[in-house]
Amino acid sequence: MKFVVDRMLGRLVRYLRILGYETDYLDFDDEQLIKRSRKSGAILLTRDGEMAQKAGNYCRVILLRKHEVREQLKELRSRVRLRKKPRESFCPVCGGGLETVPKKSIEREVFFRVFKRQKRFWKCKNCGKIYWRGTHLRALRARLRD
Ligand SMILES: [Zn+2]
Repeated sequence: MKFVVDRMLGRLVRYLRILGYETDYLDFDDEQLIKRSRKSGAILLTRDGEMAQKAGNYCRVILLRKHEVREQLKELRSRVRLRKKPRESFCPVCGGGLETVPKKSIEREVFFRVFKRQKRFWKCKNCGKIYWRGTHLRALRARLRD
């Protein structure tokens, strides 16, 4: 399952990527977003009723009505079956794929105390940002659980 997300759902994007869903978040107009979803077979997520109606003829679309990201996830979950644990993860910032990297290779790229404390590191294949199992990810996952 893949998603294309409209501009009004920026916070949701990060959650979907962490959950391991390939998620496009693009500064596109309605038409381009619809085209993109149709081409890639992604589900289009939007808060815009008009757009949802338009898109319905071309691709699978889910209209979300809530403002709060936690509520949006609930809405989404009532429409599609979301997995609980990611098989792979995508960079919350740019959506690139994350790959595990040898600890030694990123020694100069993270704070020393992080380097010392963490065993596993991931790097975004697209933007190069480095991730580890920090409090941030844990907090996000905890929110996803409830
Ligand atoms: Zn990235």
